[in-house]
Amino acid sequence: MGQQSNAMNQLTDYPLYDLHSHSQASDGLLTPAGLVARAVQMRVSVLALTDHDTVAGIAPAQQAIAQQQLPLYLLPGVEISTLWENHEIHIVGLGIDPQAPAMKQLLLNQSMCRQYRAELIASRLEKAQIPGALEGVMALAAGGAITRGHFARFLVAQGKASNISQVFKNYLARGKTGYVPAQWCTIKQAIEAIHHSAGRAVLAHPGRYHLSAKWLKRLVLHFREQGGEAIEVAQCQQAPAERSQLAQYARDYDLAASQGSDFHQPCAWIELGRKLWLPAGVDAVWTRYPELQPQPGTAILEDQ
Ligand code: AMP
Ligand code: MN
Ligand code: MN
Ligand code: MN
Repeated sequence: MGQQSNAMNQLTDYPLYDLHSHSQASDGLLTPAGLVARAVQMRVSVLALTDHDTVAGIAPAQQAIAQQQLPLYLLPGVEISTLWENHEIHIVGLGIDPQAPAMKQLLLNQSMCRQYRAELIASRLEKAQIPGALEGVMALAAGGAITRGHFARFLVAQGKASNISQVFKNYLARGKTGYVPAQWCTIKQAIEAIHHSAGRAVLAHPGRYHLSAKWLKRLVLHFREQGGEAIEVAQCQQAPAERSQLAQYARDYDLAASQGSDFHQPCAWIELGRKLWLPAGVDAVWTRYPELQPQPGTAILEDQ
C-alpha cells in the first residue's frame, strides 16, 4: 500500500478508509449527497455512512455516487446506541444490509426510544422556562433521527449558550436539566441485529466513555464475548497515546481494528479521512473481513 497525502497533507495509506460518519439522516449537517462529495474531495476511497440508529441516508448517498459517477465506495453502516452498566455505548455496524428485517425492527425500537426521550427532554426544558423545544428539534431533524445534537443546536439558537459544547455541559450532560436516560437496546441486541444483517460490529470511540482502564477492559471483553469483531482504534481528534492504547487492546483481545473520523459537519478540527491510519501489529477490519472491501472493478480513488 502506498503513501499519499490527502487534502490536509496528512500521510495516509491508500485506499483510504473512513468508517464512521454522519449525515442529515441523523445529526450530521450535510445531506448524504453532500457528504459523499466531500469524502471524494478529501481523497477518501471507502466511506461508511453510520448515522445514529437509522439507515435512511444510505440510499440517497448511493444514488448520488451512481448519478455523479463518484470514485467512492459506500459501505452501508449504522451507529447503534446501547445501554451497558448504565453507560451509553455506541456500536457501529459495517457492511450491513439496511433492509434486513432484524435491523429494521431494532431501528424501529430505537427510533421510538429517541422520540419518547425527545418528548421527555422537551418537557423538562419547558419546566425550566424553555418552551418549544420539541417543535424546534423536530424541525431541525426534518424527519431524521432526533438526537441531543438537535437539542444542542436549538438551545444555541435560543441564546441559552454560545456554543455546542457549552450547551452539552450546561443542559444536556448527565445530571443536567435536559438530560434524560434513554431505554436503548443492549450491546448483545445491537450485535445480533448487525450479524443478522450480514454486518460486522465495531465498538465505537472506546476512549470517549470516561471509563477507567478496568471498566474499559470489562467493556471490551463483554463486547467480544457477545460476538463483536472490531474496535475503533483511530480517530482524527485523539492523543497518540490513546491510539496506541486502543491498538494494544485490539491485539490483547484479538479484535480487528477500525478507523473513522466521526465526521458531523465541516469544522476546523474534524475532517473526513484526516489522520486515519492504524498502528503496526493490528488487523484492519477490512483485512480481516475482506467482504468490507470494494469489489474488484469498483471505481475508487487509488494510490496515484
Ligand atoms: P444522542 O445519541 O441523541 O444521545 O446524541 C449524542 C450525540 O450528541 C453524539 O453523537 C454527538 O454528536 C453529540 N454530542 C454528545 N456529547 C457532545 C459534546 N460534549 N459536545 C458536542 N457534541 C456532543
Ligand atoms: Mn452524533
Ligand atoms: Mn458515537
Ligand atoms: Mn458517531
